[in-house]
Amino acid sequence: MKKCKDCNKTKPLIKYPKNKLMKDGHSNQCKSCRNIYRLEYRKRSDVILKRTAYIKTPEYITKQKIYEARPEVKAKINKRRVDRRNSDPLNKIIHNTRCLIINCFKDKGWLKTSKTYKILGCDYLTFFEHLKATFVNNYNIPWDDKYLNLLNLDHIVPLAAAVSEKELIKLNHHSNFQYLWESHNIEKSDKLDWNLTNSHREEFIQYISLET
Ligand SMILES: [Zn+2]
Repeated sequence: MKKCKDCNKTKPLIKYPKNKLMKDGHSNQCKSCRNIYRLEYRKRSDVILKRTAYIKTPEYITKQKIYEARPEVKAKINKRRVDRRNSDPLNKIIHNTRCLIINCFKDKGWLKTSKTYKILGCDYLTFFEHLKATFVNNYNIPWDDKYLNLLNLDHIVPLAAAVSEKELIKLNHHSNFQYLWESHNIEKSDKLDWNLTNSHREEFIQYISLET
Protein backbone atom coordinates (compact mmCIF):
# COMPACT_ATOMS: atom_id res chain seq x y z
CA MET A 1 0.00 0.00 0.00
CA LYS A 2 1.09 3.52 -0.74
CA LYS A 3 -0.29 7.05 -0.34
CA CYS A 4 -0.68 9.15 -3.51
CA LYS A 5 0.99 12.56 -3.33
CA ASP A 6 -1.89 14.17 -5.22
CA CYS A 7 -5.16 12.67 -3.95
CA ASN A 8 -3.74 11.52 -0.58
CA LYS A 9 -5.59 8.21 -0.93
CA THR A 10 -3.88 5.01 0.12
CA LYS A 11 -3.94 2.46 -2.69
CA PRO A 12 -2.22 -0.87 -3.51
CA LEU A 13 1.08 -0.59 -5.44
CA ILE A 14 -0.52 -1.94 -8.61
CA LYS A 15 -2.50 1.32 -8.84
CA TYR A 16 0.77 3.26 -9.30
CA PRO A 17 2.68 3.48 -12.61
CA LYS A 18 6.09 1.83 -12.67
CA ASN A 19 9.03 4.15 -12.08
CA LYS A 20 12.57 2.76 -11.89
CA LEU A 21 13.85 5.87 -10.11
CA MET A 22 11.71 5.20 -7.04
CA LYS A 23 12.81 2.90 -4.24
CA ASP A 24 9.69 0.70 -4.45
CA GLY A 25 9.74 0.86 -8.26
CA HIS A 26 6.48 2.81 -8.45
CA SER A 27 5.64 6.48 -8.89
CA ASN A 28 4.30 8.62 -6.01
CA GLN A 29 1.35 9.64 -8.13
CA CYS A 30 -1.46 7.11 -8.63
CA LYS A 31 -2.60 6.08 -12.13
CA SER A 32 -5.88 8.00 -12.02
CA CYS A 33 -4.12 11.19 -10.87
CA ARG A 34 -1.53 10.70 -13.59
CA ASN A 35 -4.26 10.37 -16.22
CA ILE A 36 -5.92 13.57 -15.05
CA TYR A 37 -2.56 15.33 -15.08
CA ARG A 38 -1.83 14.13 -18.63
CA LEU A 39 -5.21 15.27 -19.92
CA GLU A 40 -4.75 18.69 -18.35
CA TYR A 41 -1.20 18.89 -19.65
CA ARG A 42 -2.31 18.26 -23.24
CA LYS A 43 -4.91 21.01 -22.96
CA ARG A 44 -2.39 23.66 -21.84
CA SER A 45 -2.08 26.39 -24.48
CA ASP A 46 1.73 26.50 -24.28
CA VAL A 47 1.88 22.73 -24.81
CA ILE A 48 -0.51 22.93 -27.80
CA LEU A 49 1.57 25.76 -29.30
CA LYS A 50 4.77 23.80 -28.86
CA ARG A 51 3.23 20.69 -30.42
CA THR A 52 1.80 22.67 -33.38
CA ALA A 53 5.21 24.23 -34.00
CA TYR A 54 6.95 20.87 -33.67
CA ILE A 55 4.80 19.04 -36.24
CA LYS A 56 5.76 21.68 -38.81
CA THR A 57 9.51 21.18 -38.40
CA PRO A 58 11.42 19.41 -41.23
CA GLU A 59 12.74 17.02 -38.59
CA TYR A 60 9.24 15.89 -37.59
CA ILE A 61 7.97 15.78 -41.20
CA THR A 62 10.89 13.55 -42.24
CA LYS A 63 10.35 11.27 -39.25
CA GLN A 64 6.63 11.05 -39.98
CA LYS A 65 7.27 10.25 -43.67
CA ILE A 66 9.61 7.41 -42.76
CA TYR A 67 7.05 6.10 -40.27
CA GLU A 68 4.16 6.28 -42.77
CA ALA A 69 6.23 4.52 -45.45
CA ARG A 70 6.42 1.37 -43.34
CA PRO A 71 4.26 -1.26 -45.08
CA GLU A 72 2.23 -2.12 -41.97
CA VAL A 73 1.56 1.58 -41.23
CA LYS A 74 0.69 2.24 -44.88
CA ALA A 75 -1.82 -0.61 -44.81
CA LYS A 76 -3.34 0.69 -41.59
CA ILE A 77 -3.74 4.22 -42.97
CA ASN A 78 -5.31 2.91 -46.19
CA LYS A 79 -7.71 0.67 -44.31
CA ARG A 80 -8.82 3.58 -42.13
CA ARG A 81 -9.42 5.64 -45.28
CA VAL A 82 -11.48 2.91 -46.97
CA ASP A 83 -13.46 2.23 -43.77
CA ARG A 84 -14.28 5.88 -43.46
CA ARG A 85 -15.44 6.05 -47.07
CA ASN A 86 -17.67 3.01 -46.58
CA SER A 87 -19.25 4.23 -43.38
CA ASP A 88 -19.65 7.87 -44.35
CA PRO A 89 -21.50 8.54 -47.64
CA LEU A 90 -20.37 12.16 -47.77
CA ASN A 91 -16.74 11.10 -47.44
CA LYS A 92 -17.24 8.66 -50.28
CA ILE A 93 -18.77 11.34 -52.51
CA ILE A 94 -15.94 13.77 -51.77
CA HIS A 95 -13.41 11.10 -52.75
CA ASN A 96 -15.26 9.92 -55.87
CA THR A 97 -15.98 13.42 -57.17
CA ARG A 98 -12.39 14.53 -56.69
CA CYS A 99 -11.07 11.46 -58.55
CA LEU A 100 -13.64 11.83 -61.32
CA ILE A 101 -12.80 15.49 -61.93
CA ILE A 102 -9.02 14.93 -61.74
CA ASN A 103 -9.36 12.11 -64.29
CA CYS A 104 -11.51 14.04 -66.72
CA PHE A 105 -8.84 16.76 -66.83
CA LYS A 106 -6.12 14.12 -67.22
CA ASP A 107 -8.03 12.46 -70.10
CA LYS A 108 -7.98 15.74 -72.02
CA GLY A 109 -4.32 16.29 -71.19
CA TRP A 110 -5.07 19.25 -68.92
CA LEU A 111 -4.31 19.83 -65.28
CA LYS A 112 -6.92 20.41 -62.60
CA THR A 113 -5.69 23.55 -60.89
CA SER A 114 -8.78 24.60 -58.92
CA LYS A 115 -10.18 22.98 -55.81
CA THR A 116 -13.02 20.53 -56.53
CA TYR A 117 -15.66 22.44 -54.56
CA LYS A 118 -14.74 25.61 -56.46
CA ILE A 119 -15.29 23.80 -59.77
CA LEU A 120 -18.58 22.37 -58.45
CA GLY A 121 -19.66 25.81 -57.35
CA CYS A 122 -20.95 24.56 -53.99
CA ASP A 123 -19.87 22.73 -50.85
CA TYR A 124 -20.03 18.92 -50.73
CA LEU A 125 -23.10 18.76 -48.52
CA THR A 126 -25.06 20.87 -51.01
CA PHE A 127 -23.66 18.72 -53.80
CA PHE A 128 -24.86 15.53 -52.11
CA GLU A 129 -28.32 17.03 -51.57
CA HIS A 130 -28.40 18.01 -55.25
CA LEU A 131 -27.44 14.47 -56.33
CA LYS A 132 -30.08 12.88 -54.12
CA ALA A 133 -32.68 15.21 -55.62
CA THR A 134 -31.65 14.16 -59.16
CA PHE A 135 -32.04 10.52 -58.15
CA VAL A 136 -35.54 11.07 -56.75
CA ASN A 137 -36.42 13.03 -59.86
CA ASN A 138 -34.99 10.39 -62.23
CA TYR A 139 -36.36 7.23 -60.65
CA ASN A 140 -39.42 8.46 -58.73
CA ILE A 141 -38.42 6.63 -55.57
CA PRO A 142 -37.34 8.01 -52.19
CA TRP A 143 -33.61 8.27 -51.51
CA ASP A 144 -31.77 5.66 -49.46
CA ASP A 145 -28.01 5.59 -48.75
CA LYS A 146 -28.01 1.90 -49.69
CA TYR A 147 -28.35 2.89 -53.39
CA LEU A 148 -24.99 4.66 -53.31
CA ASN A 149 -23.04 1.62 -54.49
CA LEU A 150 -25.35 1.15 -57.48
CA LEU A 151 -25.14 4.70 -58.76
CA ASN A 152 -22.74 6.60 -60.98
CA LEU A 153 -22.04 10.29 -61.12
CA ASP A 154 -23.19 11.24 -64.60
CA HIS A 155 -22.49 14.46 -66.47
CA ILE A 156 -25.85 15.47 -67.98
CA VAL A 157 -24.10 17.22 -70.88
CA PRO A 158 -21.28 14.76 -71.69
CA LEU A 159 -17.71 15.88 -71.19
CA ALA A 160 -16.89 14.89 -74.76
CA ALA A 161 -18.53 18.18 -75.74
CA ALA A 162 -15.80 20.25 -74.05
CA VAL A 163 -13.20 21.76 -76.39
CA SER A 164 -11.39 23.97 -73.89
CA GLU A 165 -10.36 23.91 -70.26
CA LYS A 166 -12.93 26.61 -69.53
CA GLU A 167 -15.72 24.50 -70.98
CA LEU A 168 -14.59 21.46 -69.06
CA ILE A 169 -14.76 23.46 -65.83
CA LYS A 170 -18.28 24.62 -66.77
CA LEU A 171 -19.40 21.03 -67.43
CA ASN A 172 -18.20 20.05 -63.97
CA HIS A 173 -20.50 22.54 -62.31
CA HIS A 174 -22.74 20.72 -59.81
CA SER A 175 -25.85 21.52 -61.86
CA ASN A 176 -24.49 19.30 -64.67
CA PHE A 177 -24.28 16.23 -62.40
CA GLN A 178 -26.93 13.60 -61.78
CA TYR A 179 -27.20 10.16 -60.26
CA LEU A 180 -27.82 7.35 -62.72
CA TRP A 181 -27.86 3.64 -62.18
CA GLU A 182 -24.55 2.27 -63.41
CA SER A 183 -26.01 0.37 -66.40
CA HIS A 184 -28.03 3.40 -67.48
CA ASN A 185 -24.90 5.51 -67.28
CA ILE A 186 -23.09 3.03 -69.51
CA GLU A 187 -26.02 3.04 -71.94
CA LYS A 188 -26.05 6.86 -72.01
CA SER A 189 -22.29 7.15 -72.50
CA ASP A 190 -21.51 10.23 -74.64
CA LYS A 191 -24.96 10.38 -76.26
CA LEU A 192 -26.50 13.83 -76.27
CA ASP A 193 -30.05 12.68 -77.08
CA TRP A 194 -30.35 9.94 -74.43
CA ASN A 195 -33.33 10.11 -72.09
CA LEU A 196 -34.40 8.11 -69.09
CA THR A 197 -37.70 6.37 -69.90
CA ASN A 198 -40.34 4.62 -67.84
CA SER A 199 -38.95 1.25 -68.86
CA HIS A 200 -35.57 2.33 -67.48
CA ARG A 201 -37.29 3.22 -64.21
CA GLU A 202 -39.07 -0.12 -64.07
CA GLU A 203 -35.84 -1.93 -64.82
CA PHE A 204 -34.08 -0.21 -61.89
CA ILE A 205 -36.97 -0.78 -59.47
CA GLN A 206 -37.06 -4.45 -60.44
CA TYR A 207 -33.31 -4.70 -59.88
CA ILE A 208 -33.37 -3.21 -56.39
CA SER A 209 -36.38 -5.29 -55.37
CA LEU A 210 -34.41 -8.40 -56.32
CA GLU A 211 -31.30 -7.14 -54.52
CA THR A 212 -32.98 -6.41 -51.21
ZN1 LIG B 1 -3.92 9.96 -6.69
